[in-house]
Amino acid sequence: MALIVQKYGGTSVANPERIRKLASRVGRFKKQGHQIVVVVSAMSGETNRLISLANEITKEPDQRELDVIVSTGEQVTIGMTALALQDLGFKAKSYTGSQVKILTDASHGKARIIDIDGQNMQKDLDDGYVVIVAGFQGCDAEGNITTLGRGGSDTTGVALAAALKADECQIYTDVDGVYTTDPRVVPEARRLDQITFEEMLELASQGSKVLQTRSVEFAGKYKVKLRVLSSFEESGDGTLITFEEEDKDDNMEQPLISGIAFNRDEAKVMVLGVPDTPGIAHQILGPIAEANIDVDVIIQNQGADNSTDFTFTVHKNEMHKALEIIHKEVQPNINAREILGDDKVAKVSAVGVGMRSHVGIASKMFETLSEEGINIQMISTSEIKVAVIIEEKYMELAVRALHKAFDLDEA
Ligand code: ASP
Ligand code: MG
Repeated sequence: MALIVQKYGGTSVANPERIRKLASRVGRFKKQGHQIVVVVSAMSGETNRLISLANEITKEPDQRELDVIVSTGEQVTIGMTALALQDLGFKAKSYTGSQVKILTDASHGKARIIDIDGQNMQKDLDDGYVVIVAGFQGCDAEGNITTLGRGGSDTTGVALAAALKADECQIYTDVDGVYTTDPRVVPEARRLDQITFEEMLELASQGSKVLQTRSVEFAGKYKVKLRVLSSFEESGDGTLITFEEEDKDDNMEQPLISGIAFNRDEAKVMVLGVPDTPGIAHQILGPIAEANIDVDVIIQNQGADNSTDFTFTVHKNEMHKALEIIHKEVQPNINAREILGDDKVAKVSAVGVGMRSHVGIASKMFETLSEEGINIQMISTSEIKVAVIIEEKYMELAVRALHKAFDLDEA
C-alpha cells in the first residue's frame, strides 16, 4: 500500500464527464489498496474567465479580492470530484486550501506555501476516504484567501506530497510526459522516460509549461518523487523526475542536451546611458524587486566614457509596471539617457546536465542560430543551460533548428 498524491489539471476536470473518468481512475488506485489524495485545478478556461470577470469591474483589481474570486474555480471542481467518487461508491471528502490548512505568506497572486497541516487529511485517509484538495490556493496567517500563481495546482500537489510524506506525486495532464520540446512546435519532439530534477527545474523556468517552476523547486527541496503522466491514456509510465544524476551520466545513450525550452512571455527593459558607478545595478533593480517583479536575464555593458547600458527582462505582463517604476522612482536619481521597453522578444534555451562535462555547447548553439540568420540580443548561462533572448518572430525557427542541431529529433 502506498500513499499517492495525484494532481489533475484543468483539461482533466473540464466537464462532468471528464470528472467521472478521473474518478474512475482514482477509484482503480483506491481498489488496489492505496491511500489517495487528489488535487484538482479549476475547469480549463475557468481561471481566465474569473480574471476577465474581475477585469470587467476594474482593470487593476485589488489582489486580495482577486484571490477571493479566482480561488472559486477550484472549489467547484473539488466538490464535483468528491461527488463523482461517492457516486462510484467510494468515501470521498473535499477541502479548500484554507480548510486543510495550507498556510502561505500574504503575497496575493503569487503566495508561497509556509506550512501544511496534514492531520485532518491523514485521519481521513486512515478512515478510508479519498481526500480531495483544491489546488492553487491557501490562506495567510490572518485567514485571507491566497493563490499560488498561475499553474499553482502543481505546487499544491507536490507540497501535499511532501507534507504527507507520500510515496509518489503524479501529475496528470494533457500530454503524456515531458518532451524534448513542445511537439506543437517541433512534431519530431520525443517524450523523455526520465529527466533529472535539475534539468526539469531549468526547463520549467525556461518556459516549458508542463510543470509550474515552484512545484519543481519544492520537489527538489523535499525529494518528492514526481511523475508526469497523461490523464487521457490508460497506460504509460510518463516521465519520471529523478534525483540520480550519476546514474544518468553513466548512460552512453544520454544526450548532451535533454531539451529545448522557449518562452514567449519575456519583455526587455533597457536603461541606456546611465552613470557607470558602484551601486547602479542596485539602484535600478532594487525598486523592481521591492515591487515583487521577477527579473530574469540581466546585462550590463562595460561602460566607455563613464556611462553604461543596463538591460533586463521581466514577464511581459509586468513590463509596463517595471517601466513606470524606472521612470518614477529610478530616473530622478540616475538620469538615464533613454528608457525603453520591448515586448517582442522571446527566450530560447538548451538544457542538459551533459553540458557539465562537455565544452562547445554554447558555440554550437550560436553557430546554429547564425546559420538561420537569427540575431542574439542577450545571453545567459548556467552550468546546465544556455539561454538566448531573440526577436519573438524567429522563436519557432530557432527552436526547430536547435532541436535538430542537438540531435533531439526522433530517429
Ligand atoms: N487554475 C489555476 C490556473 O489556471 C491553477 C492551475 O491550473 O494550476 O492557473
Ligand atoms: Mg498546469
